[in-house]
Amino acid sequence: MTISYEAVIGLEVHAQLLTQSKMFCASGTTFGLPANTQTCPICLGMPGTLPVVNRRAVEMAIRTGLALNCTIRSTNRFARKHYFYPDLPKGYQISQYEAPICEQGWMEVSVGSSSKRVRIRRAHLEEDAGKNIHETGTSGSRVDLNRAGTPLLEIVTEPDMRSADEVVSYLKLLRDVLMYLEVCDGNMEEGSLRCEPNLSLRPVGQQTFGTKVELKNINSFKFVKDALEYEIKRQTKVLNEGGKINQETRLWDVEKSVTATMRSKEEAHDYRYFPDPDLVPLSISEDWIEELRRTVPELPAVRQTRFVSEYGLPNYDAGVLTASRSLADYFEACVKLFHQPKTVSHWVMGELLHELNNSGTAVSESPVSPERLVSLLKLVDDGTVSLKVAREIFPELYASKKSPEQIVQEKGLTQVSDEGALEKIIDEVIAKNPTQVAQYRSGKEQVFGFFVGQVMKASGGKANPGKVNELLKRKLGG
Ligand code: ADP
Ligand code: MG
Repeated sequence: MTISYEAVIGLEVHAQLLTQSKMFCASGTTFGLPANTQTCPICLGMPGTLPVVNRRAVEMAIRTGLALNCTIRSTNRFARKHYFYPDLPKGYQISQYEAPICEQGWMEVSVGSSSKRVRIRRAHLEEDAGKNIHETGTSGSRVDLNRAGTPLLEIVTEPDMRSADEVVSYLKLLRDVLMYLEVCDGNMEEGSLRCEPNLSLRPVGQQTFGTKVELKNINSFKFVKDALEYEIKRQTKVLNEGGKINQETRLWDVEKSVTATMRSKEEAHDYRYFPDPDLVPLSISEDWIEELRRTVPELPAVRQTRFVSEYGLPNYDAGVLTASRSLADYFEACVKLFHQPKTVSHWVMGELLHELNNSGTAVSESPVSPERLVSLLKLVDDGTVSLKVAREIFPELYASKKSPEQIVQEKGLTQVSDEGALEKIIDEVIAKNPTQVAQYRSGKEQVFGFFVGQVMKASGGKANPGKVNELLKRKLGG
């Protein structure tokens, strides 16, 4: 007999904080510079140096904690977490253990059409390690300590998630929130947002948790889903065959699409945590917290709801527009200039996102500013160009610095609304197609579309369709 199992998943996410200098020294944090050029005696772990806490990193942690509905601790301590690895010159990582800066929060995550609360156990500050470099074709390995000491916020959930889809929804929302707060760039490929799911199975109906496995080396949303689904299958098979799950860390292998054992999981006591005597306890006042609370922006979920009620957008569209703060800002900048939110939303989600995605450009770098997009929409609104023409010239608007008016003029695309000119075209079309005229007049109303098509064609697509309809009805009678 096979038993049905339920997956139990908790997530540890490391977010690299967007500070200019490192967690405990003044070295820079720019990504991609030559190896070991962003280092100083402190992050190189020289004996006798002393760390100093980065105030900006603490502020970012507090703002994130507030956005995640956490309690912010007034008394914080930093702890040493010991392990040996060549990219960790001190032989310990400065982290937080018993006294994390943020505790007991939650996020409301929508999964499909339902909503689920995921509890945040804690979020604590720590420093990153460096990188070991193993290049093929060179002998030996090298160490780059540019990343050593970069501030990280580790955000840990309770084991509240039950499927890969829930995990992906949680992670997407968390990433959006971090990016809204401008505390993390959210780049999973470059490793500024790293996610480590813990997964166990239990027979449906059982209260206690099973043995968990920690998964690493997952650097995209797709891999999160693939790795978890693979691991659920693997554990189900082991259990059904009467085996036991080993508590271990497994790596996602991108090439083979499998997880494989990396090491058995260490216990907290292996790290010999103790309070770092080089750092005084950090106390955080209520006033400071309140001051920072005022800098927390309207968050994605709230903004999405407001877009629905204020602009009458469908929930899905509001979700797309508010997933990134810069896209939502772009949309609202347009609506301020042109009060037709639905039209704006169509263009932003359609033409604009299409061009941006094709060229891999961020909204904040869009060559079409809200002002230029709105001037195009106004040309449609006042009948200067047809919707069709506006769509056709959008790629040129995107690729050039010209104004929409200039493009329309240069190409002679101004819509023809002048009745005299339109009547002339219509008369010719009617004269050329006596059979269809007879059909229409004998009651075959579908033929009307044929006439509209002919007139539009004869005008080179420039005839004002509303006017054409009106004049055709008058001329054909019936
Ligand atoms: P460890 O000490 O091994 O790091 P923690 O208790 O700190 O374990 O939890 C790490 C993460 O694993 C948390 O996100 C937590 O929710 C999750 N977790 C804990 N126990 C389980 C379990 N049995 N199954 C799935 N996830 C779990
Ligand atoms: Mg842990």
